[in-house]
Amino acid sequence: MANNFRKEFPNHFHLPERINRLGELAYNLWWIWNPSAMRLYLQLDRRLWEKVTHNPIAFLHQVEIEKLENAAADASYQEEYDRVMTEFDAYMGNTNSWFAREYPQFKDRQMAYFSFEFGLHESMPFYAGGLGILSGDHLKEASDLGMPIVGMGFIYKQGYFTQKITEDGWQETGTFHFEFEEMPIISIVDENGDAITVSVDLPERTVNARVWMLQVGRVPLFLLDTSNSGNDKNDKALTSRLYSSDPEIRISQEILLGIGGVRALRKLGYDPSLWHMNEGHSAFLTLERAREFVASGMAFSDAVEKVRKTNIFTTHTPVPAGNDQFPIWIIDKYFPGYWGQLNLTREQFLDLGKQTQSWGEMFSLPVLALHLSERTNAVSELHGDVARKMWNFLWPDRKESEVPIQSITNGVHVGFWLARRMRLLFDRYLGADWFENLDEPEIWSRMDHIPDLELWDVRRHMKRKLINYAIEEARDHWQSGKRAPSQVIADGVMLDQYSLTIGFARRFATYKRATLLFSDYKRLLRLITNKDMPLQIIMAGKAHPADEPGKLMIQKVYRAAKDFRSSGRIVFLEDYDLNTARLLVQGVDVWMNTPRRPNEASGTSGMKAALNGTLNFSVLDGWWREGFNGSNGWAIGDETDYDDPNVQDEKDAASLYNTLENEIIPMYYQTRAMGDASFQWLAKIKENMRSLPWQFSTRRMLKEYLHKMYLPALEE
Ligand SMILES: *Cc1c(COP(=O)(O)O)cnc(C)c1O
Repeated sequence: MANNFRKEFPNHFHLPERINRLGELAYNLWWIWNPSAMRLYLQLDRRLWEKVTHNPIAFLHQVEIEKLENAAADASYQEEYDRVMTEFDAYMGNTNSWFAREYPQFKDRQMAYFSFEFGLHESMPFYAGGLGILSGDHLKEASDLGMPIVGMGFIYKQGYFTQKITEDGWQETGTFHFEFEEMPIISIVDENGDAITVSVDLPERTVNARVWMLQVGRVPLFLLDTSNSGNDKNDKALTSRLYSSDPEIRISQEILLGIGGVRALRKLGYDPSLWHMNEGHSAFLTLERAREFVASGMAFSDAVEKVRKTNIFTTHTPVPAGNDQFPIWIIDKYFPGYWGQLNLTREQFLDLGKQTQSWGEMFSLPVLALHLSERTNAVSELHGDVARKMWNFLWPDRKESEVPIQSITNGVHVGFWLARRMRLLFDRYLGADWFENLDEPEIWSRMDHIPDLELWDVRRHMKRKLINYAIEEARDHWQSGKRAPSQVIADGVMLDQYSLTIGFARRFATYKRATLLFSDYKRLLRLITNKDMPLQIIMAGKAHPADEPGKLMIQKVYRAAKDFRSSGRIVFLEDYDLNTARLLVQGVDVWMNTPRRPNEASGTSGMKAALNGTLNFSVLDGWWREGFNGSNGWAIGDETDYDDPNVQDEKDAASLYNTLENEIIPMYYQTRAMGDASFQWLAKIKENMRSLPWQFSTRRMLKEYLHKMYLPALEE
């Protein structure tokens, strides 16, 4: 493909000749899902590696030159370095990827993937939660499979916020400081050496965005950024934060992503054969594509026919109010110059996204995306049912079951989420081909080859790693002199590595019911403090800064963590991010999820847990309703739907406590000698591994997208 840009790397590191490609490696995110590559940095200086949030560029700027020189002269480091570089070159140079082998006829096509957020790594916090992590995993997997995807999104200069908890458990928000020179962000320029920019029209002005690039293995991800000097102060801030509650900022961002994103790809020389919108935030891209056809002389109706066939839309939001929508006055303010370019009247334009709500007429981005995409999907089977019901009004002459929204259940990227030790175990016992074929159930039927005690050793190692992390964080907090003793207890200094440990971490949105576990606090305390079979609970998560009920839930958890009666066994880890997520899903014994059914469209953190042998204990919502087979974890509640949420909460809480007390705790402690394994528990871990990871991986997910959505579009 002929691209019209050149990459410029801002940094030239002073590295010893023998290992000078560490700089190049830092600019390709391939290293983040290849632990042996990551270890080339980490082993040079562990403390520094932690201090710079696992950011290799900041790391290479700060690491002492002697450490680099010692490594360059060390035979075993050299050997590891050479092995990683050989692997990296083979990966990047591979012309025989899965996609190239299976679909040689499409290998020169391009597929665009648009998302409001990409969660790739803890050092790049421009994601808020599950949606972003999914986008990030989508790109990593596309790279592994050799799918010719190109990503489009935003750089958020202030990232998502950082979280601090006050002594009284109140969430305070901090700002991430983004230094371009410390990020693996590649500057791209045109043939004259000028930065590549795109512009979009907003009311009474034009906004320019600079286009940057991240290299995600073989996949390029382009990111728009308005902080450049040509824009006024407010416009500079357009790409500083995720999910503003101000509708005018929001629509400006969405115009920039949808319309500006199409223009950016054109300018870069891309001509995608299909356009995948991950959630409705990028839905304006459908209009920009239609505008291009209209500008070339086509009637709007023909243009729509053409773009519909190659637009793909994934919806994630099961709650009507959670969908992006704007009052009509905002559309009148932002689009009056645009409908003319589509040869549409105002009324015709508004009809494309119109949704009548009880509070009035709105212009809805999912409605626009649904109207203009032939292929649409929800993100789990149950969510498919919910989505077909929710959007049935757009197809009034069809039955609910005939609403054309398919479902493709989410997955997680195995290379990124699997603990290194567990990966070594799989390398040894699942066969050399396991990673290549990880979406085949047969691979996972080999779990019995792994000796129980080796598996248990790895599980214990991961729990120790999590607990050590919590304790070291607590120590830093304590050392700062700003932390009350009770807070240091809540940080986790009293955690012990032999107790059954439950993890719960996610956004503190109210439907996720983070405090369901606390609904019978006395009973919980009894379980926690049982001397023979103690229970530990580690929680983490952020509430949206404007979500007061979410913040109150954090406070409730935090107060329980500080309460002397919970004896240091309830812990709240501050500042949930990709790093703590990884430690948690790998390190706890049980991963709990308590959404109010059916509000969890899919959920993915439980998949990450399952992959690492952490057992799920969850409401039968989203993915777990498909994953649970009766013996690979536990269910909370059943599939009954309740009209009264209070009744649902009560029933679910009763089920939660009973299963915990009568099944989970006794099974874990079935063997009581310190540190010894419960063989029933290990059998369950193996059943979990046999049944879940192959299915709930992005490997399976991307192939499903390919078959159901991408191939039909490519064949148009
Ligand atoms: C996986 C992940 C999520 C999504 O988790 P759910 O349980 O699906 O909500 C959110 N945040 C982070 C940091 C994650 O890693």
